[in-house]
Parts: sequence; structure tokens; C-alpha cells
Amino acid sequence: MSIAAKLSSLKKELDPIKVKLIAVSKTKPNSDILEAYAAGQRIFGENQVQELVKKYEELPKDIEWHLIGHLQTNKVKYIVPFVSLIHGVDSLKLLIEINKQALKNNRIIDCLLQIYIADEESKFGLDFAEAVELLRSDEFNELKNIRIRGLMGIATNTENTKKIAEEFYELRTLFKGIKTSFFRHDDYFTELSMGMSSDYKIAIEQGSTMVRLGSTIFGERNYKKNN
Ligand SMILES: *Cc1c(COP(=O)(O)O)cnc(C)c1O
Repeated sequence: MSIAAKLSSLKKELDPIKVKLIAVSKTKPNSDILEAYAAGQRIFGENQVQELVKKYEELPKDIEWHLIGHLQTNKVKYIVPFVSLIHGVDSLKLLIEINKQALKNNRIIDCLLQIYIADEESKFGLDFAEAVELLRSDEFNELKNIRIRGLMGIATNTENTKKIAEEFYELRTLFKGIKTSFFRHDDYFTELSMGMSSDYKIAIEQGSTMVRLGSTIFGERNYKKNN
């Protein structure tokens, strides 16, 4: 199936339930992105800063770019001038740097806190207690140029669909708790970024508002490292 045909069938599936589609274009050439763009897709996700900056410079300026991967503090300055949403924020230190660069650029940067829900080692993210501690801290509450729009999580890479559903359920439960405790009066705290090609249907059943789909749209990636 062509990229356009894939997108059209995903649109039919996602639009009626108001789930946003992030087209994950990492490792894919500009020609693939332009094909998706011509089919109406405007939100794209990348996980490497260098690749994201290059594509931003080369591609149409009305694309909304999301950084979905791990972000190092020293690279924040390269994306803050144009990024629409940073999905993988996992420390106060990173938020402080994003805030600092946002101030320089006279922007307010939308971020999601990445929560660790998988039972795999060496995955990035905050645990539940760390997320609450961060949101309670005075340092966080002083940051005026960032806006936490919601949470993001990556489920365990497993065939066990019950386990995946439980992990997404936990994230959804935390999302509701955090909304009630910290963002009750903030109508922007609305997003729950969960679900990739292998598990997005489960994620939607568990209340996802944004799915990050790469291989479903663009086909398998050529190299698997870091993916
Ligand atoms: C690569 C990636 C995706 C998309 O993965 P697919 O399996 O190709 O859909 C989603 N989220 C993150 C964080 C990724 O790094």
C-alpha cells in the first residue's frame, strides 16, 4: 500500500475518535515525508535532534515537528526555535534548559513528561513518584516558558497484549491523577501520547489521545539500532 493509502485508512480509523496521528519519519527520506504531506499529513515525529533539524530546514514550514525520542540537555537549543511538542521530557534539569532556551526565543514550549511504564531496563522516563516530585517542586513552578500538555509512555515490547493494556491503563490512571492534583484549572493538560505501530489499537482502547506511528505508514526502517 502507498503512504497516501495508509494515511487515508488511518485517518478513517483515528479521526472519528479524535486521536491525533504523529507520523514518525525517522530514518526516512524527505521524499517519503513529502508524499505524506501531499496526502494532508502535517504532524511528523523524529527521535534524533540532528535529523530533525535537517528535515525542518529542508521541508515545508507548516509542518508541526515533534521530538519523540530522548533529548540531551546540550541539544535543546537546536530544536527550541521551531519544535511544536517535545514528547520525552524526563527530568527537571531538562525542563529548566528547555525553559531557558524558550525564553531566549520568546516562545512557550509544549512538553510531555515521559513516564516509565515498561518492565524493561534502560528505558528513559520518570517513575510515578518522580513525576509527582517534579511537579511539586518550586523550581518547576517557576518555569514560565514551558507548558506541560500531558504524559507520554512506551509499553514493554512484548506479544503479551494483556500486559501492554495494563501498562497503558496505569499511565492513563496516573494521567487522571496528575490532572486532578496539578492541572485542575489548566485546560491545556489534555494529551496522552501512547501507542506505536505494534500496540496503538490497545493504546486507543486505554485512552490514548496521540499515537506515534512509523512503520505502519512508511514501512519497515532499514536499520533497527536505537529504534
Ligand atoms: C520509532 C518510534 C515510534 C514509531 O515506531 P513504529 O513501531 O515504527 O511505529 C514511536 N515512538 C517512539 C518513541 C519511537 O522512537
